[in-house]
Amino acid sequence: MKPKFFDIHSHINDEKFDGDIVDVVKRMDSEDVWTIVVGTDRRSSQLAAQISCFYDNIFSSIGIHPTDNTAEHFNEPYFDELAESDNVVAVGECGLDYFRAKDESEEEKRRQKKLFEKQLEFAIKINRPLMIHCRNAHSDMLDILNSKKKEHGDLLRGNIHFFSEDTETAKKYFDLGFAISFTGVLTFTNDYDEVVEYSPFDKIMSETDSPYVSPVPHRGERNEPVYVKEVVKRIADIKNEEYIKVEKAMVSNAFRVFNINT
Ligand SMILES: [Zn+2]
Repeated sequence: MKPKFFDIHSHINDEKFDGDIVDVVKRMDSEDVWTIVVGTDRRSSQLAAQISCFYDNIFSSIGIHPTDNTAEHFNEPYFDELAESDNVVAVGECGLDYFRAKDESEEEKRRQKKLFEKQLEFAIKINRPLMIHCRNAHSDMLDILNSKKKEHGDLLRGNIHFFSEDTETAKKYFDLGFAISFTGVLTFTNDYDEVVEYSPFDKIMSETDSPYVSPVPHRGERNEPVYVKEVVKRIADIKNEEYIKVEKAMVSNAFRVFNINT
């Protein structure tokens, strides 16, 4: 059985949900929304895995963000054990972020690349797709993925979350077999209309990145997975397609990319 909506990237493991996660999940149930809770370091990955063990309609992604917690290394035995939990469907969010990096030194870039490549190899080992965070670093990211693709073939796969680049960059990821996902940002800027319009239906997914970037009409509030429907609506409007068709495509793509079978 498939849900009506799929928010493929949320952080309901964030402390902003500490007091009312049960209500947030209740609202998801009543609106038929599923989500993937994403970790950004060891602690939040563990929380994500715990939450996904607890609810049938919640999945998790485990990994270390390039800049959120720079004190952490990728401790593989720790993540090996976490990956054994139920409903862990991806590795990340991991990637490269030269925008938020405190200094853009070669050393910092090397640190991020090493951290990312470790998680990429881990994803291959446990046969999961990658949940990639990439900002101001797409040329280096594409270089890494292209060279690793030669080595690993279709085992290397995944999604570029919070996609905010142009059609040319999107095409390069599609050629590698990767999908991209869009957030509520679509509801308050037209900057990404062109890339949404251009992207094939089977290559795109919907996400909230909650608690961040609430879509219109919830700007200024804490974001949460049920608001993903605003993103789906906006994708349908931009593509000039029926809502129901887009709803179904976003859910099927999530099932396919993250190997969800229910
Ligand atoms: Zn995120």
